Amino acid sequence: MTSLEKIVHLATQSEYDCIGDEGKIFENIDLSKIDALGQGTKHDICTSSSTRRVVDQNEVLGDVTRSGICHSFTANGRCISMFKTLFTNYCTHDCKYCQNSTDYKGPKSIYSYTPEELARITISLYKGNYIEGLFLSSGVSSDEDLITEKMIETLKILNDKYNFAGYVHFKVLPGVSYEYIKQVSEMADRLSVNIETPSKSYLSELSSTKNYVNDILKRQHYIKKLELKKELPAGQTTQLVIGACGESDFDIFKRTLKEYNEMMLKRVYYSVFNPITATALEGLSAQPTWREHRLYQMDWLYRVYKFSENEIKIAFDEDGFLNNKDPKLYIALNTLDSSIDPNDAPYDELLRVPGIGPKSAYRIVNYRKKNKIYKREQLLNLGVRVKNATPFLKINGGEYPRLDRWIECQTQ
Ligand code: SF4
Repeated sequence: MTSLEKIVHLATQSEYDCIGDEGKIFENIDLSKIDALGQGTKHDICTSSSTRRVVDQNEVLGDVTRSGICHSFTANGRCISMFKTLFTNYCTHDCKYCQNSTDYKGPKSIYSYTPEELARITISLYKGNYIEGLFLSSGVSSDEDLITEKMIETLKILNDKYNFAGYVHFKVLPGVSYEYIKQVSEMADRLSVNIETPSKSYLSELSSTKNYVNDILKRQHYIKKLELKKELPAGQTTQLVIGACGESDFDIFKRTLKEYNEMMLKRVYYSVFNPITATALEGLSAQPTWREHRLYQMDWLYRVYKFSENEIKIAFDEDGFLNNKDPKLYIALNTLDSSIDPNDAPYDELLRVPGIGPKSAYRIVNYRKKNKIYKREQLLNLGVRVKNATPFLKINGGEYPRLDRWIECQTQ
């Protein structure tokens, strides 16, 4: 029994009897359907999760590649668990990396929920205290509006019949009409359309059926319009598959800038390509997970640290790739020539020092109003990662020996 089947089994067998009659729904459902539709979302990202991948080991904890129940952050920063599922795994698109694609050559069972079924499963898991929200995606039939109508019907049942007010992340299907997106924006907290690649030409290498401009960018514009009217509390996000079509990290960076600046997205998520057996790309090598990690760090520098586009460009090599080094450290090694005195450097300059983040830079600025900083322990107490910061600082008049920048901060 896979982990999701186990959870559903437990939810229906709860000794606290919190499921009540809702448990009866499972008498008529093949548990493998719940599992298959959960597995179908494995590659949909709803929060940054770059870490080592643990694949094909059933009895491990904390594996981010598992499907079923995932975690995300609400608009106020609270971490919640969500039931992550497809509505159906039937799809008429031919994305070369996907097991739901028409190009998939492996054995395939097609499953779909009815809106009532999915609403009742969600409520059962919610009442069993396994989830606080729903992440709803789907394969796309030839009529994307029709499938979206059923997904919306699920949310209506959750709201109207079960009085459910939990968090909902809704995947907008490529090509769906504005009217449906508007309807769902009134019931969901967050909407996302997967952009998958940094440009139209890259997408055409992965799918002959999806239209980048019409199916994806246009829908992102629709969502942006709704967000401007404040109809979407947790905003819009998107996801890119990394390394399935030879794109560089700089191509991804340029798209990321557009997504934040033009589409006003809350987050861009990056998911490194991992080949799935029997898909058209099964022979392509998996991308290293560090690539995803470095892209998240690059994203963080832009979005949170407010580094300029030109500063971040320094981190890419001549072919447009990030190397496996912290991009902030790499930029500092190439731009910070003289050591910085934490007693008088402005906030923005402190923020450029590896090991000093927005919070610790803010604390330093406040602390030095009444105190002089003359030893590393003070910085440590202010939240600075001294191992990384001290090679770039002048403390008590003395500069830390460079050697060069303490062998790149002991390889991070
Ligand atoms: S649209 Fe593409 S990625 Fe999404 S389910 Fe269909 S084949 Fe898979």
